[in-house]
Amino acid sequence: MPEIKQLPSHVADLIAAGEVVERPASVVKELVENAVDAGSSAVVVEIRRGGMGLIRVTDNGCGIAPSELPTAFLRHATSKLRGPEDLGRIGTLGFRGEALAAISAVSRVEIRTRRREDAAGAALRLEGGVPGEVEEAGAPEGTTILVRDLFYNTPARLKFMKKDSAETAAVSGLMQHLALSHPDISFKLIKDGAEALHTPGDGRPDSAVYAALGRDFARSLLPVKGGGDGVSVSGFITQPLQGRGSRAMQVFFVNGRFIKSQLLTAALEEGYRNQLMKGRFPGCVLAVTMPVTEVDVNVHPAKTQVKFAREKAVFDAVYHTVLDSLAERGGPVLPASPAAETASNPRGDFFRSMDAKSYREQGTKGTPSAPPPKRTAPLPSWNTEQTGPMLSDSVPPSERPALGRRTPFPPLRGDAPASVLKPERTEAPAPPAARPFVPAIPRQDLELPGQEAMEPPKEAPWRIAGEVLRTYIVCESEEGCVFLIDKHAAHERINFDRLKAALEPPMRQTLLTPAALELGKEDGALLLENLPLLEAFGFSCEDFGGGTVLVREVPADLDAEDAAATLEEIAGKLREGRSPAERREALLHTMACKAAIKGGWRSDPAELRALVDKVQSGEVKYCPHGRPVAVKLTKYELEKMFKRA
Ligand code: ADP
Ligand code: MG
Repeated sequence: MPEIKQLPSHVADLIAAGEVVERPASVVKELVENAVDAGSSAVVVEIRRGGMGLIRVTDNGCGIAPSELPTAFLRHATSKLRGPEDLGRIGTLGFRGEALAAISAVSRVEIRTRRREDAAGAALRLEGGVPGEVEEAGAPEGTTILVRDLFYNTPARLKFMKKDSAETAAVSGLMQHLALSHPDISFKLIKDGAEALHTPGDGRPDSAVYAALGRDFARSLLPVKGGGDGVSVSGFITQPLQGRGSRAMQVFFVNGRFIKSQLLTAALEEGYRNQLMKGRFPGCVLAVTMPVTEVDVNVHPAKTQVKFAREKAVFDAVYHTVLDSLAERGGPVLPASPAAETASNPRGDFFRSMDAKSYREQGTKGTPSAPPPKRTAPLPSWNTEQTGPMLSDSVPPSERPALGRRTPFPPLRGDAPASVLKPERTEAPAPPAARPFVPAIPRQDLELPGQEAMEPPKEAPWRIAGEVLRTYIVCESEEGCVFLIDKHAAHERINFDRLKAALEPPMRQTLLTPAALELGKEDGALLLENLPLLEAFGFSCEDFGGGTVLVREVPADLDAEDAAATLEEIAGKLREGRSPAERREALLHTMACKAAIKGGWRSDPAELRALVDKVQSGEVKYCPHGRPVAVKLTKYELEKMFKRA
């Protein structure tokens, strides 16, 4: 490596300023980037307590000359940049010359290093940025940096550190990205003494994907290669049927650097247009390569954003690579939306949505059960069988047993009822045909947007005239008003209120065969750290190792086939790292939505009745997102429309 020198101020001033060391993960990022820039073929990262206890990064790269060791810790000291002209052609991950200075300023650092050409290595300790003496020391070729007591001298920063588990998750995610972007380097992460990630570094992108993201994700991928106009694109994208619950699995590298980019996300998603179910996102691991002079990496202190000189060329390259690859594999495989059109509620029985207590009460009355509506068509599922394994021939067999892959959840009813243990009760609850009408308590009406306020029900239950577009219930009140009720929105609200008020945990269904859900290390860890919360929502999960979560029980009112997507979405919400109360609220939203009957499903008359009664009673006005659940048309309004009035 060239000599480490301090940048003159006119160059230093050109560098995007900002804080480099925000949290343990940012320390790990900078240190590993240095290891990569040093030409290492193996990098080992060890963290304790999410990095707050200790961070140790060991590489076998070029090492640092003993005489340059103190310089490396000065601000704006770098071997990667000399003059302003170099800023326009950065080929290394680092270039700011600030990381070692910033890290050592807020911690206790120990470095040991030896270059291949030196007989002896050198060691240096720094405390709060103040260096000791450089000492001669035995050291293997390469560099080891140990960071302890992070933020010990910045109590304000220390106070705002998240839980160790959140930091661990951040470090894991970061290591995945680094490992994926450099398949030629072997990365190992050891968390609190246990190996959490280990990539072979054999230069094969598929090996890196397999090792970093797990077998199931790897299997859901299609290899892609394309580009044009000076931009090349290669990597992997998910098959349309394997859409994800969030964008977390969209991984982009530009010239070997992991970045976040709305442009790349948009290009990817445009390539999938009309091929994914609503609310699902493609996943990818895509490496975009172009001349270094066409990417400005000096726009963000954490170097996670870039500016492209030719945005359109980049967009087109990614878009066409995705589009062509999807077309090549036999045209779009549309999720079974036509089937969903004709499907009745696969949950079968709307009344399972009652809380555990009323469920049990109903059950003990011994009402004869009505047969569940027959499922007429399967809904889109996670069936991985449909697509051949992508990596089966190329990747060494995993030590993990066959359970380690994402097994499709057995359907709840209809197709394979025997595979699911029913809730405690044997009979279905009574249909509420003869439910006594409960007069509503008069209250201040809330105005529905653009509509008149609904009146409290006075007399007879609204007559259900029918259902239109498989989404809206049409009803008529005694005094001659017409109501249109959005059945999904209404049910979502009912679920939300019920879950929110629930004193008891919801009913669960036990999966006869526990389902192994491979979420990736980061999301897996997040779920496992929140087991009590998941329990409260009716999921029983346990650690299966390597980012796989074993699901034994799911809430009774959740379609078992939706469980995988629901847990993924929950992991996404946990990742947002909000306060416990906000987190619970976000999870309530997810559960309420996932457990609700969907527009497009054919509904049982008893389901419709129950929804209408709830809306009529005034308990349900807005869905949890604030959209109205019902609109009202008065006789007068109808007459006006028909020019009768
Ligand atoms: P930058 O990476 O932006 O140059 P840093 O503060 O991260 O700035 O590092 C300063 C210099 O120290 C680097 O330019 C590099 O020459 C040297 N260095 C840091 N870490 C390593 C390492 N692991 N192996 C070899 N050299 C290193
Ligand atoms: Mg650096």
